[in-house]
Amino acid sequence: MIVKFLGVGEAFDERLPNTSILVRAEEDGAGQSSVLLDCGFTAPPRFWANCGDPDELDAIWISHFHGDHFFGIPALLTRFWESGRRKPLLVAGQEGVGTVVSQALRLAYASVMDKFGFELKFLDIEPGNTFETAGFTWSAAQSGHPQRDLALRLERGGKSLFYGGDGPPTEQTLALAHGCDLIIHEAFSIEQKYPSHGSMRGAIDFALKAGGKALAFVHVQRDERRERNYEIKQLIEETKHMRVFMPEPEEELEL
Ligand SMILES: [Zn+2]
Ligand SMILES: [Zn+2]
Repeated sequence: MIVKFLGVGEAFDERLPNTSILVRAEEDGAGQSSVLLDCGFTAPPRFWANCGDPDELDAIWISHFHGDHFFGIPALLTRFWESGRRKPLLVAGQEGVGTVVSQALRLAYASVMDKFGFELKFLDIEPGNTFETAGFTWSAAQSGHPQRDLALRLERGGKSLFYGGDGPPTEQTLALAHGCDLIIHEAFSIEQKYPSHGSMRGAIDFALKAGGKALAFVHVQRDERRERNYEIKQLIEETKHMRVFMPEPEEELEL
C-alpha cells in the first residue's frame, strides 16, 4: 500500500490544500487499485498533478459532508469526463452519499452527470458492515465531529490504514483503528481546544491505545501549525513506541 498525502490542510488554509490522501495498491496478484480519501474544494489540482490517467482512480471515500472534504468532487469528475474516462467510479461514504454528491454535481455543472462516459456508483458504508470493493476491505466507525463523520479502515494484503476524517476520537473509532500500520488523524491543535476537532495529544493517546505503528497529523489549524511548529516538533520527538509525523503535501510512504 502506497500512501501519498496530496493535501494535509484544514478547511481554510492559504498555504496547504485540504486534507486528501491517495492510497495505491500495487500489482500483487489482486490487481492494481487506488482510492482517494476525501476531496475538498482545493484538492483536485493536487490530484491532477499526481495522477494524469483519467481511468486510474477506482474509488473515492467521503468522510463527511463538509466542503473541505467533498466539494472538490464536481471538478474532479468533470475533468474525468473531459478527459474521456471510461472506467466505473465508486464514491463511498455514509448513508446518503449518493444524494449529496449528485446534488453537488448538479449545482456545479447542471447536466454533466448525464454526459459522463463512465458509470458513477455509490456505496453506503455504515458502521458494523465490512465491504470488499475496489481492491480493499473497508469498514467504518463514527467520530465525535458534530457534522456526522465516519472514520475509515482500509485493508489489503495484511496492511491496514485508518483515516479519521474530522472530529475527536470515540470508543468506536478506537476499536476500528486497532493494530493499524498507519493512523492518519485530524489534529487541529496541540492540546484539546475545540470540542468539534481532535488534538495532537489526543491523537497520540488514541494511536498508542490502538496499538498503531505510525501516526500522521493532518488537518492542523493553520495558525497553530505556523506559530507553534517548535512545540509540535518537540511533542513528536518525545513520543516513544510509535513513529509520529506531520506530513507535508506530496509526502509519500509505503506500508
Ligand atoms: Zn475538515
Ligand atoms: Zn468537518
